[in-house]
Amino acid sequence: MTKKIFILFIILPLTLILSWGREGHFLIARYAVQNLPKEMEYFKQWEDYIVKHSIDADNRKEIDGEDVKHFIDIDFYEEYFSGSVIHDKNQLVKKYGDSIVNSTGVLPWATVTTYDNLVQAFKEKNRDKVLILASDLAHYVADGHQPMHTILNYDGQLSGQKGIHKRYETEMVERYKDEIVNSGLKDSLNIISNPLEFVFNYIIESNSYDPVIFSADNFAYQYTGSRKSEDYYKLLWFKTKHVTFNRINAASNALSVLYYSAWASAGKPNLKEIN
Ligand SMILES: [Zn+2]
Repeated sequence: MTKKIFILFIILPLTLILSWGREGHFLIARYAVQNLPKEMEYFKQWEDYIVKHSIDADNRKEIDGEDVKHFIDIDFYEEYFSGSVIHDKNQLVKKYGDSIVNSTGVLPWATVTTYDNLVQAFKEKNRDKVLILASDLAHYVADGHQPMHTILNYDGQLSGQKGIHKRYETEMVERYKDEIVNSGLKDSLNIISNPLEFVFNYIIESNSYDPVIFSADNFAYQYTGSRKSEDYYKLLWFKTKHVTFNRINAASNALSVLYYSAWASAGKPNLKEIN
């Protein structure tokens, strides 16, 4: 435990520069709005605004308390190694202390707070708030689907693969973004009863894909002798493209569900009256 805390404090500042690349965020926000059902048709006029502002949360990381909203290193907590994750923040704080819980990342709770505020903004029919919160929600949901936003070894710094975070989510995604197509909405939309559980579920799922990305990075390096060349990125894409399709489309699906649930929980206000 003490060793883990020590590692955490050494590596934490690096998180300030890391997130899904902008292209990944744009795809997720766009697909989510496009997949909304007919009854939310009017929401689609805000697609371009939401896509453009889906990266705003990254651009304000210098503001106190923002940077830790973009990740949670769930394998820092000892429960992870017995197959569970504590969802309740107060319970975690009681066990580990406020500063540890905060520095380990607060992405799930930041996502749910943004969701709750979006419900309220729909109720108030406040257009500015709806647009800002829908954009921020797009950001946090996307981050929760990036496997390396859920793990202590988030930049390969603990496995001799430093820089993997940016190589995967920015350099590779920018090169191959045109191949990442919208696979559409997977399930019909329902109002989710427990947003925190919903968010933790996809974070835990994201975390399970980390080994694929780490192993692809080693594979590509082994066969190209480089972590910078076009051949390296070709192999990295070859070995991770199915996971990447999955994560981008799962993120846009989850975001559609949260938009729909927020609007439905607010009593399905007439979107034309939101101004
Ligand atoms: Zn981010």
